[in-house]
Amino acid sequence: MILPISKLPVKVLRKPVVNVELPADKKMLRLIKDMIATCKAADGVGLAAPQIGQNLNLAIIYLEEAGLPAFPIINPVIIKTSKETTEMEEGCLSTPGLFGKVKRPKKITIEAYNVEGEKFTITDDTFLARVIQHEIDHLKNTLIIDKFEEITTGKELLKKYQDK
Ligand SMILES: [Zn+2]
Repeated sequence: MILPISKLPVKVLRKPVVNVELPADKKMLRLIKDMIATCKAADGVGLAAPQIGQNLNLAIIYLEEAGLPAFPIINPVIIKTSKETTEMEEGCLSTPGLFGKVKRPKKITIEAYNVEGEKFTITDDTFLARVIQHEIDHLKNTLIIDKFEEITTGKELLKKYQDK
C-alpha cells in the first residue's frame, strides 16, 4: 500500500520518535513493506517513519545505485563520524521544491537493528552515508531546511537523474 507522505508543516515531522519494539510484529512488518513501496513510488532514496505520519525510530534506505535491496534501519544510532565533510545539494520528499547544499561528515558508522532484532553495523563514505544521515536527521526531527548552507535550484539533483 502506498502511504501519503507528510509534508511541512505537518507536525509529526517535528515530533520526537519512540523506539520500535523488536522483533517486529506483523503490524510493523506491514508498515515497513508499505514504506518501501511508498519510497519506491515517490522515487526516493530513503524514507523515515515521521514522513508517513508515524513517530517511530525507523527509516527505509532504498538505494539501488549502491547495489542494495531496500532495507530498514530500526532504532539507528550514529556511533562515529569523520572530521572530513562533504557538501552536496539535497532535496526531501517532505519539503518538495526546496533544495539546498547540506554539509555532512563524509564517513559514518551506524548501529541499527533488523526486523528480527539483530544488531548490525554500517560503515560507509559514499552516497549511502549521506542518505543514512538524512534519514537519521528525520528521526531527530531535523529537516534539510534547518541545515542549508545555501539555497539552490535543484539543478544538480536534476542533472544526476538526467545522466542516468
Ligand atoms: Zn527527507
